[in-house]
Amino acid sequence: MEMKKEIVIFDNNKESLAFLTNFFKTNVDYSAIFVKDETALLKKLGKIKPDALVVGSPLELGKIRPREMGCPLIAMVSVDITNGIRSVMKNEIGYYLISPFHKEDFELKLRMAVQKKNWFDGVYSEKKDLETIVELIHLVSSTLDPKEILYFIVKKIADIIDVTRCSIVSIPAEERRHAYVISTFEDPKIENIRLDLKKYPEIRKALESKSTVVIEDALKDPLMKGVRPIIAPLGIRSIVVAPVIFRNEVIGTLFLRTSRTGHTFTEREIRLCNAIANAATNALYNAFLYEKLEAEKTKLEKFAITDYLTGIYNIRYFYYRLEEEFSRSQRYQIPLSCIMFDIDYFKKINDTYGHRVGDMVLREFAQRVTKYTRKSDVFARYGGEEFIMLLPHTSGEGAVAEAERLRKAIREYRFKSLKDKKGVTVSIGTVSYPDRKIKTQDDLITFADNALFTAKNKGRDQIVVYNSL
Ligand code: GH3
Ligand code: MG
Ligand code: MG
Repeated sequence: MEMKKEIVIFDNNKESLAFLTNFFKTNVDYSAIFVKDETALLKKLGKIKPDALVVGSPLELGKIRPREMGCPLIAMVSVDITNGIRSVMKNEIGYYLISPFHKEDFELKLRMAVQKKNWFDGVYSEKKDLETIVELIHLVSSTLDPKEILYFIVKKIADIIDVTRCSIVSIPAEERRHAYVISTFEDPKIENIRLDLKKYPEIRKALESKSTVVIEDALKDPLMKGVRPIIAPLGIRSIVVAPVIFRNEVIGTLFLRTSRTGHTFTEREIRLCNAIANAATNALYNAFLYEKLEAEKTKLEKFAITDYLTGIYNIRYFYYRLEEEFSRSQRYQIPLSCIMFDIDYFKKINDTYGHRVGDMVLREFAQRVTKYTRKSDVFARYGGEEFIMLLPHTSGEGAVAEAERLRKAIREYRFKSLKDKKGVTVSIGTVSYPDRKIKTQDDLITFADNALFTAKNKGRDQIVVYNSL
């Protein structure tokens, strides 16, 4: 059923008003709204956009600017005909009738005006679409964060197309069973929601065909048969999936869903989606690169502070933290302790089991100790089979208690990499700040090393506390 055309009539003139009232009374194709004064007219036009506006006297146009109306005008000229026609010309009013009025004449002009309105609307929305695409192309080539750009894109689409859900989905080349929602109109902050493509046959089809998939009614389309129980409760009816293609590969899709019944996405909307998907290519590809780079960066940063064999901190990181903690301890006079470990008779392990098993023992040793340390302690590989630990906010007694706990934990532990699950012992030297002899951060390491040397000499598997006295 076609909607009735809405015609607004602004008329005070007795003759034309009588004619128009009579005309619309007997005509069922139009719904007529009569207004008496300019204020009422402007109020009405603020609310609706009629298919045509009929003015009873072109001399009384007042503040109304016909060219800015956005709808065709029909003028009814009576009384002062000469001036009336002049006003029609001056205001570029498209259609006019001169008294005496004829029903057939008016009917024809009305039909022409309404047709013009349709044509005008078409041109207007195409102009809008073009503006949108130009705007998006500008946006995509801007220096904004690619994720931000993608959000602008979905927001823009939601502005101009009536959708319930609108997202950009990324489909990584290496993993074609999942897609990731990286931008959605409903929520600017979402982070890579994973979609199982088994549940999205329409996205799979766009991926395979590399072309736009339009589902007019998801409840009837055979493609959606398997997933109907999932989407039916969501109220989803029409779906458009426009692939985003980069170098002949689908790297993502624009994913629009609506609950509109009766009419699906229009030709114009689908065309617009495709244009936008094209414009989004670079932004989506950049978002990919960006994420990859971020991940690489984190990985690199992690590598730079990690010992490759044991996975604990390396000595470089230890020095960095030592400097920080030592100056903090100096400034605020808070205790700081350092524990140095050296595995006993490690050469023998290498000789008996081989170097590779030796490596595994080192890894197990590091894991074992890590399990017993606090988050705030910095445990690092000092080199070879020597390890070092920094204990902020820990006094001498605290350090000794911790060292003792660790010595026992190692002694009692059966190493998986050794035959018969043999054990290993460790010698330990500890040192604690403040101490009158400790002036620099290096003193902390030197004195811990000295204490460790004493522990070895005294027979190994024990703790020696550095004491300046
Ligand atoms: P102790 O400390 O009780 O005096 O005896 P030790 O046998 O442990 O003495 P030393 O410190 O002289 O020897 C350490 C050995 O550790 C020498 C080296 O071959 C071995 N080593 C050092 N780094 C590694 C490593 O990364 N992997 C393996 N498997 N062995 C290593
Ligand atoms: Mg050693
Ligand atoms: Mg050793």
